[in-house]
Amino acid sequence: MNDMLILGYGPAGVSAALYGLRAGLKVTLIGKDGGALQKAHLIENYYGLETPLTGEQLMEVGRKQAAKLGAQIVDDEVTDLMFDGTGFVATGLKGVYRGKTCVMATGAARKKQPLAGMAEMEGHGVSYCAVCDAFFYRQKDVAVMGSGEYALHEATELLQVVNSVTLLTNGAPLTAAFPESIKIETRKLKGLVGEGAFKGVQFEDGAEQNFDGLFVALGSANATDLALKAGAAFDQGKLVLDGDLQSTIPGLYAAGDCTGGTLQISVAVGEGARAGLAAIKYLREHRE
Ligand SMILES: Cc1cc2nc3c(=O)[nH]c(=O)nc-3n(C[C@H](O)[C@H](O)[C@H](O)COP(=O)(O)OP(=O)(O)OC[C@H]3O[C@@H](n4cnc5c(N)ncnc54)[C@H](O)[C@@H]3O)c2cc1C
Repeated sequence: MNDMLILGYGPAGVSAALYGLRAGLKVTLIGKDGGALQKAHLIENYYGLETPLTGEQLMEVGRKQAAKLGAQIVDDEVTDLMFDGTGFVATGLKGVYRGKTCVMATGAARKKQPLAGMAEMEGHGVSYCAVCDAFFYRQKDVAVMGSGEYALHEATELLQVVNSVTLLTNGAPLTAAFPESIKIETRKLKGLVGEGAFKGVQFEDGAEQNFDGLFVALGSANATDLALKAGAAFDQGKLVLDGDLQSTIPGLYAAGDCTGGTLQISVAVGEGARAGLAAIKYLREHRE
């Protein structure tokens, strides 16, 4: 088992990894793409870059540095995270990864409320976590909003429990192979139906369809989704983190853009260092 399992190989994840590796730990970094850093055209405000680098170049340097120190670097998209009593288990599209500690460094949370009123309906028919809430929808008809691998993962989880699952793509192209047991609705959405509690959706053509619940699974799983699945606590929608960036689950940390605040490389690197050092301390204190 890894000592440190790090989800995201951007500046925050790599920074946490460097500390773990230099402490002699077994570290695996998992990432699905270049994250925000890859999109940055030219970095001029990060320490030490006398000659500016593109985000992509800086990312490459960071990953090479971690690999040189012994990190295992895996390209995969993580869709699930759980704590099984002995460690963290992250499920990806290509494999399952285990770690005694886990640092979530998945970058900034994407916009998750594409329709008005969605935030207010969270917990009242709108959910962001199939494994957490599927039970409440036994034998009911639910919708999943999304169109990719993460939506497929959530829909598959729900299929075990609910009566029917309808995928609402909101006009987006499908980027995963959905089984026939999942109904696909491609019409664009106009809004949600229900006062305070979710009752269904309205399409742009004016038609309405009732559902008992709506699971939002847009894009890929981010730190919030994964922390929810692992059972970490939230306060007013924000992941609860202590001064060491540790969640309410001992050994589970978050760092970088995914914690909110200032979305800058220097901050992400700093938080990665804090989480990495805290994970090292945790492992030393819990050595068998
Ligand atoms: C256009 C643009 C320009 C910018 N310019 C600057 C600048 O000039 N200076 C500056 O300081 N900052 C700049 N930033 C911000 C900077 O890029 C971010 O603050 C920084 O990259 C955050 O690092 P991070 O590690 O937290 O997240 P990211 O760099 O976003 O890395 C997130 C990582 O998580 C992975 N990931 C996410 N979800 C999953 C999943 N489900 N499974 C597996 N892996 C996953 C991604 O693949 C990626 O590896 C810019 C950002 C953008 C978008």
